[in-house]
Amino acid sequence: MTEKTELSWRTGRRNTTLQDRVVDYVKDVKISGLRFDLRKESRMVDKFERMGMTDFYNEIIGIDDGLTDSQFVSTLIHELLEVLKRNYRIGVESHEDVMRLETAMYALFIDNPKLVEVINEHVQTRNREEDPISNIIEATKISNSKEEPEKGKEEPKEDSISLDG
Ligand SMILES: [Zn+2]
Repeated sequence: MTEKTELSWRTGRRNTTLQDRVVDYVKDVKISGLRFDLRKESRMVDKFERMGMTDFYNEIIGIDDGLTDSQFVSTLIHELLEVLKRNYRIGVESHEDVMRLETAMYALFIDNPKLVEVINEHVQTRNREEDPISNIIEATKISNSKEEPEKGKEEPKEDSISLDG
């Protein structure tokens, strides 16, 4: 985060909701080389009985605009996990297991607020040349680049929309 972004984040805090700030500042989520557009969508729960949905074909993460902050953040974690699961080919098959991971991560962050702070400090201070993210991927033997499905290639549009809540 640049100094300017940091500053606008802090000054903006007083005038906007947390959910709007998330959409404003995290609207272009980079996940394993792809960028997902993060949006609030109206009546998603009414129409689809889902709090969040990820459209892998168009690379859009939509979250219902009528949620509480805790529902919103937890749903965001869920949708990010869905993308990570797919892009890193993590063998979590059932939606129930993704929901368990969502709850586990949400609780982890809530129970350990300093954890987010120190991770953020690392993000700000790490040496990008000496410590590129590709080293971590390599170290964990994740093959992510060559076998990754290309946008829209692997599955038809209907199947590539995950209906998640
Ligand atoms: Zn899901």
